[in-house]
Amino acid sequence: MCRHLGWLGEPASVASLIFEPANGLLVQSYSPRRQKHGLMNADGWGVGFFDGATPRRWRSATPIWGDASLASVAPALRSGCIVAAVRSASIGMPIEATASAPFTDGRWLLSHNGLVDRAVLPPSKAAESTNDSALLAASIFERGLDALGDTIVDVAAADPNARLNILAGNGSRMLATTWGDTLSILRRSDGVVLASEPYDDDPAWQEIPDRHLVEVTENRVELIPLKGST
Ligand code: GLN
Repeated sequence: MCRHLGWLGEPASVASLIFEPANGLLVQSYSPRRQKHGLMNADGWGVGFFDGATPRRWRSATPIWGDASLASVAPALRSGCIVAAVRSASIGMPIEATASAPFTDGRWLLSHNGLVDRAVLPPSKAAESTNDSALLAASIFERGLDALGDTIVDVAAADPNARLNILAGNGSRMLATTWGDTLSILRRSDGVVLASEPYDDDPAWQEIPDRHLVEVTENRVELIPLKGST
């Protein structure tokens, strides 16, 4: 499992979201507080953000705490829509930069926390790597993000053990699912944070219940139960 974080709001720096908070993604990479599977997230990281309508990414297959340049550049990377992740590779999955989220189809940036049997996913020439998350991202892009909830329910039906927490942004919308792992939301005056776990102890963080779809736009946050939620 991994940890991911998304931002939609006024332009904010990557550093302010992942390095500066007491329990930001940097700390979550070696000491996550709510992770259910895996002890740390040392198999890579990725930072994606929108530069106008263009998604841009910086990914690596090494631990985020050891990167020689990211901490120096992150204060200057500012965007109104950011998707970042730290990775704990599942057994048998490749460890390479292209296996680290966020994945993209040129319009969306997408991260997956979880595990899915690759045999239930359609083969894809568009997948960026051979790990389950890259293959799942390709099939979500193929069906379109408007069908995200249906895609998750269908994949879960094909692999009942799958854990399918998705986080995606396109510059003006952020979508997330909870299916088997944690997700929290923080509504700030300048925007909304979705994160696998709170990056600090602000009491305003709220947990998203399992098996839900969250949609964040500039004006609203909508929480939609997925089929099979209780
Ligand atoms: N199954 C994922 C992988 O190995 C595990 C990391 C995650 O939770 N995204 O790519």
